[in-house]
Amino acid sequence: MSLPVKPHVASLEPYQPGKPIEELQREFGFEDVVKLASNENPLGPSPKAQEAILAAASRVHRYPDGASYALREELSSRLDVDAGQLVFGCGCDEVFELAAKAYVGPGDEVVFAWPSFAMYPIVTKGMGGTPVAVPLTSDFVHDLDAMRAAITERTRAVVVCNPNNPTGTSVGAEAFDAFVASLPDDVVLLVDEAYVEYARRADFPDALTWVRRRPGTAVLRTFSKIYGLAGLRVGYAVADPELAGHLERARHPFNVNLLAEEAALAALSDDAHVAESRRVNEEGAELLTRELGALGIPVWPTDANYLLAQPGPGTYEALLAKGVIVRPLAGFGMPEYVRITIGLPAENERLVKALAECQRERS
Ligand SMILES: *Cc1c(COP(=O)(O)O)cnc(C)c1O
Repeated sequence: MSLPVKPHVASLEPYQPGKPIEELQREFGFEDVVKLASNENPLGPSPKAQEAILAAASRVHRYPDGASYALREELSSRLDVDAGQLVFGCGCDEVFELAAKAYVGPGDEVVFAWPSFAMYPIVTKGMGGTPVAVPLTSDFVHDLDAMRAAITERTRAVVVCNPNNPTGTSVGAEAFDAFVASLPDDVVLLVDEAYVEYARRADFPDALTWVRRRPGTAVLRTFSKIYGLAGLRVGYAVADPELAGHLERARHPFNVNLLAEEAALAALSDDAHVAESRRVNEEGAELLTRELGALGIPVWPTDANYLLAQPGPGTYEALLAKGVIVRPLAGFGMPEYVRITIGLPAENERLVKALAECQRERS
């Protein structure tokens, strides 16, 4: 059979999500699976968001507000940007795709770091564009000089994932600002800040100031991570008005569903839940760094809610057999490494115990 599929779509490798808990339960018969694989908030959604979802349930026979008016107003005042600078999507993934739809076609290049978020090459190729993956430095940080050098006349967009997924590393303000200032005016800059709320370093870049200063800049954020709403799918871009207008044209009218908008609005109002999420994450990061260090497992400093560790090859599979799901990085050519989402204290302890068992079994 030969359907007329476009060659660039046929050649795509589908995104590999973290293994679902239910799948592992089915495969191994485990009751208590711990999933530390998809950077979800282990505290769950804010109780305020849950109430908002229940309260809105009786209205889902109506189309959502295609303009996301209430959420737009709230974010525009919180971020001090014009309402017209915000574009909402079915997750930040969709917002990235809107940008690719608006700016990338056959022959066009998109520059990003690698390893980084797996959706960048998938979305780029999906539009017929050419991904240009620039290796991270040996410390697993964006090599901004090399990324700048990779920009050519064919470059339509450059992506900076800060903090970077899957490494948890980040670039500081000085390096970021110099990089952005060096970019050609006609290259779109997308700054993926999916984890910005977790960032701890004092000199974390203020990418939003670049949205004000540099046309062609968009900062991408999401409610999937610290706000604990990954299952509802809502993210957004903060962009200069012209860029925002292009994304709006590429957008489907009802891409953010009614429950997602209500939940996001309520989650924004729950500062205590966000603060608690950050606190639990910082304690977990310290515990995992300490305990993995004690096991002799190299761990990299993180500005996010996950960390990069090097426990050796085969660890992903060995942990699965103990009911613990982490993220394998073999697909990035890093079979010795895993990405571990920071969980609740009991989940972190279970992981440490399982890693210690893996080591004993190996020796
Ligand atoms: C999780 C993640 C996203 C996607 O978030 P959604 O809003 O759930 O689509 C985007 N970028 C990075 C780097 C992520 O890790």
